Amino acid sequence: MIIGIDLGTTNSLAAYFTEDGPKIIPNRLGKHLTPSVVSIDENEQIYVGETAKERMLMYPNASASVFKRDMGTEKKYTLRNKEFKAEELSSFILRSLKEDAEAYLGEEVTEAVISVPAYFNDARRKATKRAGELAGLKVERIISEPTAAAIAYGLYQKNKDTRFLVFDLGGGTFDVSILELFQNILEVHAVAGDNFLGGEDFTEVLVDMFLSEKGIKLEELEHKTVVHIKKQAELCKRSFISEKSPVMSCKINDEILEMTIDMDKYEKQCEKLLERIRMPIKRSLTDANVKLSDIDQVVMVGGATRLPIVHRFVSRLFKILPNTSVNPDEVVALGAAIQAAMKERNEAIKEVILTDVCPFTLGTEVSKEIEENQYESGYFYPIIERNTVIPASRTERLYTVRDNQSKLRINVLQGESRFASNNLSIGELLIDIPKAKAGEEAIDITYTYDINSILEVQVKVVSTGEIKKTIIKGQNVEMTDEEIEQRMAELSYLKIHPREQEANKLLLLKAERLYEESIGDTRKRLELELMKFDAALNTRNKGKIEDGYKRLQLVLERLTEDRDF
Ligand code: AMP
Repeated sequence: MIIGIDLGTTNSLAAYFTEDGPKIIPNRLGKHLTPSVVSIDENEQIYVGETAKERMLMYPNASASVFKRDMGTEKKYTLRNKEFKAEELSSFILRSLKEDAEAYLGEEVTEAVISVPAYFNDARRKATKRAGELAGLKVERIISEPTAAAIAYGLYQKNKDTRFLVFDLGGGTFDVSILELFQNILEVHAVAGDNFLGGEDFTEVLVDMFLSEKGIKLEELEHKTVVHIKKQAELCKRSFISEKSPVMSCKINDEILEMTIDMDKYEKQCEKLLERIRMPIKRSLTDANVKLSDIDQVVMVGGATRLPIVHRFVSRLFKILPNTSVNPDEVVALGAAIQAAMKERNEAIKEVILTDVCPFTLGTEVSKEIEENQYESGYFYPIIERNTVIPASRTERLYTVRDNQSKLRINVLQGESRFASNNLSIGELLIDIPKAKAGEEAIDITYTYDINSILEVQVKVVSTGEIKKTIIKGQNVEMTDEEIEQRMAELSYLKIHPREQEANKLLLLKAERLYEESIGDTRKRLELELMKFDAALNTRNKGKIEDGYKRLQLVLERLTEDRDF
C-alpha cells in the first residue's frame, strides 16, 4: 500500500486513497494531526507527536521541534546526549505515521509519497527521501506542497490550461507558488515567501491590544502568565470565524480581565501584516511574468487562511473567491495520497508531470562603471535568475575593465543582493587572458544548472578559445544504500513508544506537568490521583486502567477549568 504524507514543520499527517477519494488516516490518539515533535526518555524510548510536545515542556533538552527547517543540512540536534540530523528526527515521525497507518488500514504500508516545500532544493529533497527510507518506507516520489494542494482540488483534471496561485499561510511561514497547467503538465512557475510570517503574528497583534488596553507590561509578567495570555489570544482568534463580537478573557493574579474585540481596530493593526503578505505575491507574479488578473484560481493552504481578514484580503486582491472547500490543514496530505494512487495504478487517474525551478539566483561578481572610466568592484551580476525552470543553461559575455588585465577571477555567487558580498560564494574559477586595452578582451560565462542542483560553470576566452570548467555540487550530502542500511540499524534500537499505551502516557505527562506547576492542596490532590493511576496501570487490568484514566482525566479537567488554563 502506498500512502501520502505531509511532513510539516509544525504538524504531519498521512492520507490514503479510497473509492470515494482521498481520506486522512487518524493517528494512535484518533487525531488527524501529529505534531512534528520528537522526544527521547532515559530508557531510550522515542516519543512522537502530542506526547513528545507535552514532554517538550518538561524536558526541552530531550526533545526537538521545527527541525524541518534544517532538512538536508549537517546540523545536529542533541537529545539527551545523542545526536540526530533533521532527517533522522523526521524518520521517527514517519515511522510513527507508518505504524499508525498500518494499524488503521490493517495492512502493511511499504511506500509513501512525501510532500516538501516548492523551494526545497535537491539536497533537502534527497534528505526527505532518506528520512522515509530510514523509517522503512520506499520513497520514489517527492511532491511539492503547492502541487499537492492543486491536485487535491482536482485542478489537474481541467482540460483548459489554467494558472493557479497557492497561498499557504501556516503558523510561522508564508509561501506563495504560481503553477500552470499546460497540456497535462502541472508546472511550478515561481515560488516566493516569508519565513517569518504566519498565523502567530496575527495572535501577537491581539496580545498587544490586550496588554495595551489593560495597561500591562509584558516584561513584568511571569513566563506562565505570558503563555496563558497567548493561549487565550489564540482561542479568541479562532472564534473570529463564528463570533461577531469576540471576547478575549485572561486570568491574571486571580483576576479575570476581559476585552471585547473591536474588529475594525484589530484589522487596522493587522494592516502591516497584510502588507507583508502582499510582497511575496508581487514577487512571484513578477517572476512568473504574469499579472494579478491572469490568475484563474487561488488555493488556500495552512491553518491561518481560516482567518476572515486573510480570506477577505485575498478575495479583494484577486477579485475572485479563493478555493477553501478542502480543509487547509489537510489539503497537502490529501493531494499526496492522490499522487500515491496515480503512482500505484497509473491508468485510473490522469497522471501529472511535474517540473521544477531553481529557487535562487546564480551569478558572478563584476565591476561597474561609476563614472567615466572609473570602475568599482563588488557588484552582483545574475546569470540564471531565480525561478528559472530547470535544467537551464545561460551564457553571458563580460569584458575586461583594466588595460593589460592578464587574469580574470570568476566568483560564483548565489543570492539576490545587488552586492556580491551579501551573497553566498559557492566556488571560483581563474582564467588567463591576453593583455590588451580595457574592454577589448571578452569572456563568455556559461552556467548550466541541472535537475540535481548541480551547477557547471564554463568560461571561454573569446579571442583564444581557451575553456575552463568547474562543477559545483552545493551541499549535497549523498548516502549509499549501505550507509542508509547501517544508519537504519543504528537507529532501530530506539523503539517508538508502544501505540496502545500512548493515551495513558499523554495523560500522565499532563498530570505531572500540572503537578510541577501547582502548589499546596492542588499538588497534594494531584499526587494522590497520580499514584492511583500508576497503581491502576500496574494491575495491567484493562477495565481498571480505563476507569483510572477516566477519573484522572476528569480531575485534570476540573483543575484546569479552575485555573482557566
Ligand atoms: P499550520 O502551520 O498550517 O498548522 O497553521 C497553524 C496556524 O493556523 C496557527 O497560527 C493557528 O493560529 C492558525 N489557525 C488554525 N485554525 C485557525 C482558525 N480557525 N482561525 C484562525 N487561525 C487559525
